Amino acid sequence: MLEYGAFFALHPRALVVNRISEEQSVHNVIVIGSGCAGLTAAIYAARANLKPLVIDGYEPGGQLTLTTMVENFPGFPDGILGPQLIDNMRKQAERFGASFKAGAVNEVDLSRRPFKITAGKETYECQALIVAAGASARLLGLEAERKLIGHGVSTCATCDGFFFRDKEIAVVGGGDSAMEEAIFLTKFASRVNLLHRRSEFRASKIMLDRAHANEKIRFVTPVVVEDVLDAGKNAVEAIRIRNLETKEVSMLPVEGFFVAIGHDPNTKAFRGKLDMDEAGYLVTKNGSRTSVEGVFAAGDVQDHRYRQAVTAAGSGCMAAMDAEKFLEGHAH
Ligand code: NAP
Repeated sequence: MLEYGAFFALHPRALVVNRISEEQSVHNVIVIGSGCAGLTAAIYAARANLKPLVIDGYEPGGQLTLTTMVENFPGFPDGILGPQLIDNMRKQAERFGASFKAGAVNEVDLSRRPFKITAGKETYECQALIVAAGASARLLGLEAERKLIGHGVSTCATCDGFFFRDKEIAVVGGGDSAMEEAIFLTKFASRVNLLHRRSEFRASKIMLDRAHANEKIRFVTPVVVEDVLDAGKNAVEAIRIRNLETKEVSMLPVEGFFVAIGHDPNTKAFRGKLDMDEAGYLVTKNGSRTSVEGVFAAGDVQDHRYRQAVTAAGSGCMAAMDAEKFLEGHAH
């Protein structure tokens, strides 16, 4: 029996799309972003013999490279390190013929096909585009915060909560994400300190009520986080906070610090070119289709609800299959 990939290598349509890319330097498919969604899209597109080009993006490897052990990605009963999982996906895509270019996309021309994608000084052309540029968790901007990511500082409770069993931790933020993360973390932590800069909350009433009703959550407001200690020891031991009413500065001893102040989708280059919601996430319809025919979106760039590695991977698969179908109907 022929393998799926071998079937495509022999398929007449595959010959058409290969000829396009070789003679005109126009890629069949460009994937923007190299996180879970982008790499999965690359694996599927490569297995369909479309020779995708992946442009790495601002954070090569995406958010998984900012975490340590991933224990909820199916297929790894003992867990797998986030960077290792990403590296495996990248090798898998390369094995089937995907190629990679470093760089962040700063401009796109989607007004006609082939689409033009500019990253730094290079401009690439493609017949179909998959946007998997992800979203970046907002950080407070403290030096120690970035240094301690994966070592006690986290932006994802679902990913890292398990490591804080019976430990005292803190969550910063006052929106639904902060409430959700704090409530989730009470499954593990002995106590969750919810730190917010105002005494009023942006979170919905239902989420706020749930958090208030949870005995393990202690609200600490109105405070700003001034520092996370101790970057020198590569572990979180305490948070320095300043009360905005009393001006009092105090140390809060905690072993974990979760930043839940929102995410920003990486969609700046697509403003005015693809439909977005108010928060800047790309709008997809009918699978992974965007408002421009031939442009597909996958992963966190179009999803602020689930934001999981496995859902991003699934949507990357969908985008590659949608792009493949699109190319089938637009071979010339
Ligand atoms: P969000 O609603 O924008 O809230 C961000 C929170 O972080 C705000 O309380 C904000 O404080 C605080 N913040 C922002 N920058 C800060 C900084 N530099 N320092 C300290 N605090 C800072 O973001 P989100 O909570 O991620 O929610 C995003 C969207 O997803 C919302 O529409 C939300 O309803 C939705 N969502 C829904 C659910 C659910 O229903 N289960 C779960 C998660 C998210 P201020 O209030 O003072 O500005």
